[in-house]
Amino acid sequence: MSQNILCGTLIDGENEEPFKGVWLTISDGLIKSISDSKPVGSEEFLDLSRFTILPGFIDCHDHVCLDPGDEFAQAQEPLGWLAVRGAARVRTIIEAGVTTLRNAGEHERLDLSLKRAIEAGMIPGPRLLTAGIWICRTGGHGWYDEIEADGPWEIRKAIREEVKHGADWIKIMVTGGISTPNSDANMSDFTREEIFVAVDEAHRLGKKISAHAHGGPGVDSLIEAGVDSIEHGFYLTQSQLHEMAKKGIYLCSTYGIIAAIIDEPSSPDFSREGCIKVAKIIHQMLIKAIQENVPIVVGTDGNHGKMAVELEALIKSGYSHSQAIKALTSQAARFLGLESQTGSIKKGFKADLVIIDGDPLSDIYAIENIKLVMKDGNIIFRNFPI
Ligand SMILES: [Zn+2]
Repeated sequence: MSQNILCGTLIDGENEEPFKGVWLTISDGLIKSISDSKPVGSEEFLDLSRFTILPGFIDCHDHVCLDPGDEFAQAQEPLGWLAVRGAARVRTIIEAGVTTLRNAGEHERLDLSLKRAIEAGMIPGPRLLTAGIWICRTGGHGWYDEIEADGPWEIRKAIREEVKHGADWIKIMVTGGISTPNSDANMSDFTREEIFVAVDEAHRLGKKISAHAHGGPGVDSLIEAGVDSIEHGFYLTQSQLHEMAKKGIYLCSTYGIIAAIIDEPSSPDFSREGCIKVAKIIHQMLIKAIQENVPIVVGTDGNHGKMAVELEALIKSGYSHSQAIKALTSQAARFLGLESQTGSIKKGFKADLVIIDGDPLSDIYAIENIKLVMKDGNIIFRNFPI
């Protein structure tokens, strides 16, 4: 059965200018048509003429079972608690308009079980792309969430292990990070050889690989090796960004988590101090990334569902509102290899829609004023009367 929708303003995720008063027809979970005139036989329709319609949002970096705060303490929690909390988080995430999410590593591969539960219709949640467990060196950033691998063959085996368990992407921790004690964001945790091996093995097995990396020589090796994305990149230099743009390596910007960690009472002092330091420099990096034309996508990294703050950071660094919305939709879909399925409102695409009250082309926080969320043509969330 098909469903007809009268749109107020439609922002399709690709065109600069929005469309007004168009009709969408949805059938079998897909967008069947977009037309200027009322479709024949559409006596019954969903009247969204007061609202703005956007493609479903895409969060390119979250950990659905992890919250801002003390990551080490969370890793010691019972697995059952983390799983239940993750199941609750995926609901709030989709209710915030995120219909697709790349999970950038999770304790004990809980993301794979959550993906299974969502796909089986047991719990509401976004379409998940999973990385399984992230891979770090012994004692490297995030070691408490496993897998520690050293040397070429351990790294190859670790990647093979994640692929065996069904990971869609590989996630590797290449530099130190803010949430691990005694960690240096500009020091490479892996040798150049190990980095090249990791990229080679992931690509050899047909998987993309993303690297947690902030700055320093580890980033140079990642760029040279042809990694698919650099996550965070707080200390990236202009020349590193220039090289990333040349090779089409994405930057996954994670901005909002910095303030979330600073504000969270359970955050350890070293983590809060690291975030205060980063908060002073991150805009400069984003400005350079935009100047260099690096392809940018966004991720909440534990600040679940809070997409507007990510886009605001890009807008303050030089993006137009429309470019920021593309980073959240069509550009993110391209990054994930889903550009023929989602990220845009187009004929034949999945009916992943977010309906909001307000104009995100003038106020980006309007994307938080959610009225309805649809994934694969199913209404997941609605908060206005019929
Ligand atoms: Zn992360």
